[in-house]
Amino acid sequence: MKPALKDFVIGNPFYRWYFVRLNGEKSLPEGQTIADVHKRFLKRILLDDHDLNSFMINKTVTHTRSTKDTQVEDVIQLKVEAGDFSSINIELKEMVEKFWNHGSKSVSIEWVEKESSSSFEKDGIFSFLLNLEVGRRSWVNTGTGTVNLVQPTRIGSIAHEFGHVLGFVDNYHTTWNAQTCKYSFESLPSDIMSESFGGKVSDTHWKELEERYPVVTP
Ligand SMILES: [Zn+2]
Repeated sequence: MKPALKDFVIGNPFYRWYFVRLNGEKSLPEGQTIADVHKRFLKRILLDDHDLNSFMINKTVTHTRSTKDTQVEDVIQLKVEAGDFSSINIELKEMVEKFWNHGSKSVSIEWVEKESSSSFEKDGIFSFLLNLEVGRRSWVNTGTGTVNLVQPTRIGSIAHEFGHVLGFVDNYHTTWNAQTCKYSFESLPSDIMSESFGGKVSDTHWKELEERYPVVTP
């Protein structure tokens, strides 16, 4: 790794996950070796970042299309467990759906309770968890299927994390600047998967959702 890239990576909170594990400061995810973490890290760096294959299909999604009058309506429905947020699940559903709805296209959350014998690997159902650790940012663990929200959390971050539940990856770019000989971290302020503060859901997101989740005809 070029020294400039190494400096950039170490100084960037986005990649810290890998470093604390590679340095042995935190235990490895169950069943994983250092080599696995290394591989994931390199893949992440090399992705840089827009690898289409990095979309993660949510297997609870069904995509239906209907026509009302002359209007075509698309609904992406998925199962989620409200977990720690079950007492405000109605409000949470409303907020997230409102953020992701786009014209005649809408997202519909179906709250379910996971069976105790089930696992994310089996059912693909994400669960919302409240994370009370101080100084953390909200994040989604796509390995265990948890949406970890810190407090306080803005609606933009919840909508961003929900984007991961739908399958999107973060849309950040690592760019080499030849003039300053440095890597920099760039984001697109208008994109919810890039900037949770002020970012929005756009045609591009919905185009991807439609491609990833083909319409099911009843
Ligand atoms: Zn993210």
